[in-house]
Amino acid sequence: MSRPRLSRVCGPDYHGCMKVLLASPRGFCAGVNMAIESLDLALASLEPPIYVYHEIVHNKYVVEHFRGRGVTFVDEMAEVPVGATLLFSAHGVSPEVRRIARERKLRAIDATCPLVTKVHLEAVKYAREGFTILLIGHEGHDEVIGTMGEAPEAIVLVESPEGVAKLEVADERKVAYLTQTTLSVDDANRIIDRLKERFPYITAPPKDDICYATQNRQEAVALWADEADVALVLGSQNSSNSQRLAELARERGIPAYLVDGPGDLQAAWFEAANTVLVTAGASAPEEVVNQCLDWLRERFDAVVEPRSIRQENVSFPLPRELRNIMAAK
Ligand code: SF4
Repeated sequence: MSRPRLSRVCGPDYHGCMKVLLASPRGFCAGVNMAIESLDLALASLEPPIYVYHEIVHNKYVVEHFRGRGVTFVDEMAEVPVGATLLFSAHGVSPEVRRIARERKLRAIDATCPLVTKVHLEAVKYAREGFTILLIGHEGHDEVIGTMGEAPEAIVLVESPEGVAKLEVADERKVAYLTQTTLSVDDANRIIDRLKERFPYITAPPKDDICYATQNRQEAVALWADEADVALVLGSQNSSNSQRLAELARERGIPAYLVDGPGDLQAAWFEAANTVLVTAGASAPEEVVNQCLDWLRERFDAVVEPRSIRQENVSFPLPRELRNIMAAK
């Protein structure tokens, strides 16, 4: 639902005419920090070439940065030479990919986010216990492919509330659900409500699968979108959590633009805006946020007002393989 646009109360040359609500938490989460640090360390301490299976994180800027430093990103395991060094991205991989890595004698460094690994382990556990697992997520997303690969015979993907009616399960009392970590909390809840109606005995994961970073960034947008005329979300088009932030702002009635950086911005988006809400998905670097703020300052004399719902103090250890390599040096 869209709400009436405010007209600008002063001309673009008037200082302070545009207010930017800079949402926090935004940008890099603990999993992305760990994956990027892992790749940085691999580059600094291991012999090139370094390969990464899929994008290390779903961000064009980050991927281009590492490509410029000599990293090769691959979508097929066959592209990695036997014996080479390969990092698994933050989104995780299926056991089949790990098997191929062993078969090809790769030096594999697993930079999967531990919160994705948690969902993998839940899938393995439920499958062992004979449950049909209903995985709420987006088809084709790297994380969903990896999780489904843990128990392909036991997992069924559910993408929408409408999809729930069509589900067929062997035993309605042995059904569990899991979710992709980067979903819209509201969308996931709509599907979960439908699942609970259809399968009253359904088992829920012991703890939320949608991760803290996804939830925090969405909560901040939900809280401040009503004060803004436009939302600007830094992130790449293939970043699920970034897409969800833009969608959430639109659901709150304001236009929202998902951009990789200042090169994508158009002045027309902001001409009638008194207040712009700025946030960034979990894989978007702060550098591009700052570049966009500079862009808004230069053109609209924007004044930035930081807003924060809470501090994030989460960090994850480096992958074991990398710690072992570092310790041996
Ligand atoms: S968004 Fe969440 S699940 Fe994904 S890497 Fe970050 S912390 Fe991990």
